[in-house]
Amino acid sequence: MIPGSFAYHRPKSVSEAVALLADLGEEARPLAGGHSLIPMMKLRLASPGHLVDLAAISDLKGIRLDGSDIVIGAMTTQHELIGSDLLAAKIPLLRETALVIADPQVRYMGTVGGNVANGDPGNDLPAVMICLNAIYQVTGKGGERRIPARRFYHGAYFTALEPNEIVTAVRIPVPPAGHGSAYEKLKRKVGDYATAAAAVVLTLTGDRIATCSIGLTNVAESPLWAEEAAKIMVGSALDAATVKKAVAAAEAITAPASDQRGPAQYRTKMAGVMLARALARARASAR
Ligand SMILES: Cc1cc2nc3c(=O)[nH]c(=O)nc-3n(C[C@H](O)[C@H](O)[C@H](O)COP(=O)(O)OP(=O)(O)OC[C@H]3O[C@@H](n4cnc5c(N)ncnc54)[C@H](O)[C@@H]3O)c2cc1C
Repeated sequence: MIPGSFAYHRPKSVSEAVALLADLGEEARPLAGGHSLIPMMKLRLASPGHLVDLAAISDLKGIRLDGSDIVIGAMTTQHELIGSDLLAAKIPLLRETALVIADPQVRYMGTVGGNVANGDPGNDLPAVMICLNAIYQVTGKGGERRIPARRFYHGAYFTALEPNEIVTAVRIPVPPAGHGSAYEKLKRKVGDYATAAAAVVLTLTGDRIATCSIGLTNVAESPLWAEEAAKIMVGSALDAATVKKAVAAAEAITAPASDQRGPAQYRTKMAGVMLARALARARASAR
């Protein structure tokens, strides 16, 4: 339960942080809220020689509207998502998701950037960001680049980030007014990671689904974009036969591990159940 020794660095700017990470090399890791990294260090599953704490970089904080996007600084806490009036008005899915991440103690410290950069398939925000078609703004020694959430996750703890890069912000296109959304998460108890979870964002034309996007949490090595399932839903009035087809398409792309949350087959089925519930609730919340 005691981490290995490490040197602690507290840069005041993104450029200073990136320069430190580049100079210190693969021995260095960014530290955000510490609620995934510190437990890993205590278990000796991670032993970085240097921690580059991002907490003093004020540019990494805040939630703002930028044209038709909402931009969330990487060091914004999960708790701050819950209290944001801007998000409540424009992207209520984020508030809803933040409320089912862990517990208040974790959310006060845990950050948006840490949650999306961590690469743990159990994290809730990545599938939601995939569903919302978010873009991650990333800065490294080579400058800034933008990576779509849908192309960021390559495997468990394996992302598109280079070792010297940090996520500085998450940029999310604001879904159209009147859109519906829902995040359904099955967990064994309050504060647990998902056995399976599904995020849905949709729009309606009359009583038919005009657009639909679906993300799935913790039912593969990476969060999943259920593109085919979403396509099946478009044009439907959410009738039972179409939902069944979409659920089957979503289940078909899952590959969960059998673990303490249940056997693989059960977790796949629960992904389908979560999706059917999320579709119905997103439809009910759409105007
Ligand atoms: C008891 C418990 C229950 C939890 N339950 C859930 C849950 O239900 N759902 C859920 O989603 N999460 C859960 N978590 C994890 C929590 O949300 C973490 O806060 C989150 O995974 C990581 O965010 P952090 O800010 O704490 O990052 P840290 O722990 O500081 O960092 C995590 C990783 O990301 C890297 N990193 C951090 N910030 C950046 C950045 N800006 N750019 C590049 N790399 C970066 C770090 O180097 C590290 O590898 C739980 C944690 C605990 C302790």
